[in-house]
Amino acid sequence: MRTSSIIEWQEDGITLKEDETGRSDSSSSRGEVYVVGIGPGDLEHLSIKAFQIIKDVDVVAGYNTYIDLVDELISKEQEVISTGMTKEIDRVEMALEAAQKGNRVAIVSSGDAGVYGMAGLVLETVDKKDLELEVEIIPGITAANAAASTLGAPLMHDYAVISLSDLLTPWKVIVDRLKRAAGGDFVVVLYNPKSKQRQQQIVKAREIFLQHKEPATPVGIVRSAKRGSEEMVITDLENMLDEEIGMVTTVIIGNSETFSFADSMVTPRGYEV
Ligand code: SAH
Repeated sequence: MRTSSIIEWQEDGITLKEDETGRSDSSSSRGEVYVVGIGPGDLEHLSIKAFQIIKDVDVVAGYNTYIDLVDELISKEQEVISTGMTKEIDRVEMALEAAQKGNRVAIVSSGDAGVYGMAGLVLETVDKKDLELEVEIIPGITAANAAASTLGAPLMHDYAVISLSDLLTPWKVIVDRLKRAAGGDFVVVLYNPKSKQRQQQIVKAREIFLQHKEPATPVGIVRSAKRGSEEMVITDLENMLDEEIGMVTTVIIGNSETFSFADSMVTPRGYEV
């Protein structure tokens, strides 16, 4: 797939140069869609490829908050399609319509677009509507990895990622997965732990973990990972609910080997240290 910028490495950072062909190639009748993971927040955690594509495309589409995160990369010549949180389907349809007109379109999604993000919905829509579009997914740093790096090294062994949001997934299914992950002694990363409307899921999740894990099992809580406002705490299963948990929080529950020291949470890989 063709992009029209060239990246240059310089001592004081990375710069982009336009090549002679200009900003975009709208002559192609087959529209191009990029589903771009923009990482957890601050631009320094955006991949170079994501940076390049957001700079190059004709149209950038995304939830308002994510557009704001990459706002400084978007120029006046680019069209922006932004909508509120629950308008995912409309947003994707608008973005795909723009692509069908021959535009190069980036659909931005926080973290990794393929982890509770927009990538699946885009591909499902292209398949269902039998659209003649080229779709490329650009990976991003997902919240699990961003939060883990802030906490130390809690994901050094097998881990499971579970979203506590029951908006699209039946709660019964979530409970079943929590039980299996806890019973399997996985480290567990919880996404969407709590929102204004969903306060009890994290309470129930903790109860399930306590049926399989020690109350002293380390729990890392990271709010706004890799953003200017980042906050983290390492606590344990017993006390985790005393901490502030919200929409932009990732919770990591250790396995039976996980330990904490100073400001770090570590799950041993098994080396003899
Ligand atoms: N596609 C995103 C996840 C979207 S689901 C990704 O790959 O990261 C939204 C959930 O992700 C939030 O409820 C929170 O649990 C987590 N999350 C996203 N950004 C985060 C951040 N900067 N810090 C902590 N958690 C974050």
